[in-house]
Amino acid sequence: MTTSFPAYLELLARLRRIHVLGTVTGVLGWDEQVNLPPGAAVRRGEQMALLAELAHAEATAPGLGAALAKCEVVGPVGEAALVVEAARRDYDRAVKLPAELVAEKARLSSEAYHAWAVARAARDFSAFAPFLEKHLALARREAELLGYGDRPYDLAIDRHDPGLDAHRVGALFAELRAGLVPLAQRVDQRVRAGGGRPVALRGFDIEAQRRMALAVTARLGFDYQRGRLDVSLHPFCEGSGDDVRLTTRFDADNPLDSLYSSIHEAGHGMYEQGLPTGHAGTALGVAAGMAVHESQSRLWENQVARSRAFWSWLEPEYRAAFSGPLDGVSADALHAVVNQVEPGGLIRVDADEIHYNLHILLRFELEKRLFAGELAVADLPAAWDDLCEELFGRRPSHAGEGVLQDVHWSSGAFGYFPSYTLGNMIAAQLWDAACAALPGLEGDFARGEFGRLLGWLRETVHAHGRREDAFALTRRATGLDLGAGALLAYLEKRYDREAN
Ligand code: ZN
Repeated sequence: MTTSFPAYLELLARLRRIHVLGTVTGVLGWDEQVNLPPGAAVRRGEQMALLAELAHAEATAPGLGAALAKCEVVGPVGEAALVVEAARRDYDRAVKLPAELVAEKARLSSEAYHAWAVARAARDFSAFAPFLEKHLALARREAELLGYGDRPYDLAIDRHDPGLDAHRVGALFAELRAGLVPLAQRVDQRVRAGGGRPVALRGFDIEAQRRMALAVTARLGFDYQRGRLDVSLHPFCEGSGDDVRLTTRFDADNPLDSLYSSIHEAGHGMYEQGLPTGHAGTALGVAAGMAVHESQSRLWENQVARSRAFWSWLEPEYRAAFSGPLDGVSADALHAVVNQVEPGGLIRVDADEIHYNLHILLRFELEKRLFAGELAVADLPAAWDDLCEELFGRRPSHAGEGVLQDVHWSSGAFGYFPSYTLGNMIAAQLWDAACAALPGLEGDFARGEFGRLLGWLRETVHAHGRREDAFALTRRATGLDLGAGALLAYLEKRYDREAN
């Protein structure tokens, strides 16, 4: 079969329509979190439900099934085989889900997001619990319909990371936990023994922070001709190719939050901008999964932007932008804030690189129990607090810093959390491979040059789309199987041995 085979061309055209509808949904979803007046939530819910119905109709169109079947009869080879195989999987999944269920999930997600925001502000889990119950019931129904039967959590993980399941993730996390818990204890002890907290950064002008976030992310390589940066409650990245939307949030007394969340989201954005746009809508033009996605954001945020080399470039510009509030703050003191470890820090999005992964181990464990029916939604807050005590050595004082802190469950995005820590593992391995392939890389950063690293990532990761799953991609790109070793070694080097 050649790529000009009529049925293949029809398949590509149909995949393109599904992709375009997805981008419309993406822009409306972005708008919902960035611009929506509170009173418009119900109308937006209706809009999203209609779009979900249209997308479902396209994804299940008999013409799509017919085009696929014709391609399969002829026997696609090479890239076309990958496209057809992935399209077949998506099509088979879509035809098994009734349109009514898809629309219900979209409507519920929109309502639950607003309920979550209100419940979190009120620190009242019971106001959000019914929405979580409904999402879990829908996820179970979906698993039934898609043949996952008694393994609904495997489906949840596979959705974000094709090829992964709870068993494989559990094995990697057990390996990580064995090294991470003692490492966290050692570092916590050192930090506590060191006494005193790092210097507080206060009174940073918001407009200057916005300019800094734009300038730094542009310098790293995010293309603002094909993207933008706005403000939302929870930072995210939406879109792909020529329209990539980043968000951040600003706090005059926490300037590194806006800087690092902007860098993080720009890492996602550069991946989306680096995917082969000519293949948009097919498996060749989409990201390899959320774990690989997260490896891109983490690598820029942590390995690059928390390094001494990066700050030796940025510091003069940073001081020029915020001269008043940085008066009397030494370079060492500033670096200590950048790499601050907070023993027992309970908020995931504020967590340092070590404790962040403990947060993910906690959420993975609880999701597993919820899906296995071992934990009722009503008992979730208590289970959360207990596990927190076990991993962090303290309990949250209210639901806002405990079970209600994350946005994910409001959209039914179960199985997403593991991607963050898998992404950290992949990032650590990619970083080792990049340093071996590109001698003098940190010297580049000290000069504010990031093009060699971005070029290597474009070539090694971005250009490949979804040709491989996270395991295969990591093996090809780094020469090693995905494991916890590189991440543990990196964390140890930066936080355990190095004086901060
Ligand atoms: Zn991310």
